[in-house]
Amino acid sequence: MKIELIKGDITKIEADAIVNAANSSLLGGGGVDGAIHRAGGKQILEECIQIRNQQGKCNTGEAFVTTAGNLPAKYVIHTVGPVWDGDEEKCSKLLANCYKNSLILAESLGVKTIAFPNISTGVYRFPKELAGKIATEEVKNFKSEILEEVIFVCFDEENEEIYRTLLKNITD
Ligand code: ADP
Repeated sequence: MKIELIKGDITKIEADAIVNAANSSLLGGGGVDGAIHRAGGKQILEECIQIRNQQGKCNTGEAFVTTAGNLPAKYVIHTVGPVWDGDEEKCSKLLANCYKNSLILAESLGVKTIAFPNISTGVYRFPKELAGKIATEEVKNFKSEILEEVIFVCFDEENEEIYRTLLKNITD
């Protein structure tokens, strides 16, 4: 499985699936969630509402899939990251679950390429360095016969620097 790093906007990525750092209400929010809903159009929100009506809110660390609407991707995998509250052990486990459950879901959909944003490192205030370590470890440890490429999409410079160092031996 190839691991790539891109600096930019995840809504522009032509992967089979892009991952959304969703809000637990599933009704959209700011940051990457807002960008995905704005660029993808109302079909994504309509499916989120349907899912919410069927199963209630999405628990932290879990993942579900919708169409990608007008985006170049085929699917949007929505996962709810933990809000950082200083409990490192609990928050780390929940963030790891976001990556793992998104990868498991992607695999079940036959996805070959998947792009992740830096989940929880925006308004949810997860420390970026620790979040990067968890994300890269989870992806490196995920053994798949189906997934061919995982792209980490960093929006801000600080995350890009962190990921460049963490992935140095892989992406060089
Ligand atoms: P969370 O609530 O999980 O913290 P945010 O959307 O606030 O979610 O932030 C998560 C990460 O997504 C941040 O590192 C932020 O810089 C990044 N981000 C914001 N907009 C985009 C975008 N269009 N594409 C990729 N990443 C983005």
